[in-house]
Amino acid sequence: MNKRLILTLCATLLLLPLSGWTQQEEAELTVKITPIKSHLYLLKGRGGNVMASIGDDGILIIDDDYNEYATAYHKALESISGTAGLPRFVVNTHWHSDHVGTNGYWGERGAVILAHDNVYARMSTRQEMKLFDRVVEPSPKPALPVLTYSDAMTLHFNGETVEVQHFPRGHTDGDSVIFFSAENVVHMGDHYFKDKFPFVDLGSGGNVISFTDNVAAVLAKIDDNTVIVPGHGELATRAELVRYHQMLRTTTERVKSMLSQGMSVEQIGEQGLGDEWDSWGQGFIDEPAWISFIAGSI
Ligand SMILES: [Zn+2]
Repeated sequence: MNKRLILTLCATLLLLPLSGWTQQEEAELTVKITPIKSHLYLLKGRGGNVMASIGDDGILIIDDDYNEYATAYHKALESISGTAGLPRFVVNTHWHSDHVGTNGYWGERGAVILAHDNVYARMSTRQEMKLFDRVVEPSPKPALPVLTYSDAMTLHFNGETVEVQHFPRGHTDGDSVIFFSAENVVHMGDHYFKDKFPFVDLGSGGNVISFTDNVAAVLAKIDDNTVIVPGHGELATRAELVRYHQMLRTTTERVKSMLSQGMSVEQIGEQGLGDEWDSWGQGFIDEPAWISFIAGSI
């Protein structure tokens, strides 16, 4: 099986909505709850990491996984909060279906959905993801963000300042990173695949160079006590994010230098980036795919 095909299969598993699931199967889907600090929780189903702020002001969630997981998240939020388990606010870090899949479920139940302007633009129109040979149809109205912003938005919720900040040309063109000031927690969306090469969606306005700059900008805003919620993977420390940033910089420089020696992207993929980074290519994005994202960004 060639590398491109492996990438396509992995991507299909991660990004495609689950279809043809029976109600019985959906009822068996579970969400793992991990307390982060105080009123903040990490919830994990199958797609991107979901974070919840649950307190006197109600429930706010960052991202909301695949469509089929709606009732599993609803049960999880009910059990943590001891309430009806309905979020007042849903913040989307970006438009991919493994992060916005249950928007419609919450939108129909009264949640206000917030996201960057470009998330609205992409979710409300037909999108082609050429890399995966996939078309994403426009989302139904209840799933669309109703409050959008071009740069940043601040929520004052459950006793802290929740700063939602857009980082341009990152994983897509509409990514937000969310900082919880009082508890010193940050949700990075898909700017962070912990210990793995990230998916950078060049077709949705992403770019590896500015993606790397964005990660540096987050590093400059946080400290050694910050708890980091990646888009995919387990909770992380600043030191782990520093290592990820080193990977981004070093591998980009290596690809640039090999390209300048006249090597093709395929030749670089065959030669590889060195043993140091082997384990980083064992996730959703393998090394040849990562090399192609770098080459496509410079
Ligand atoms: Zn994504």
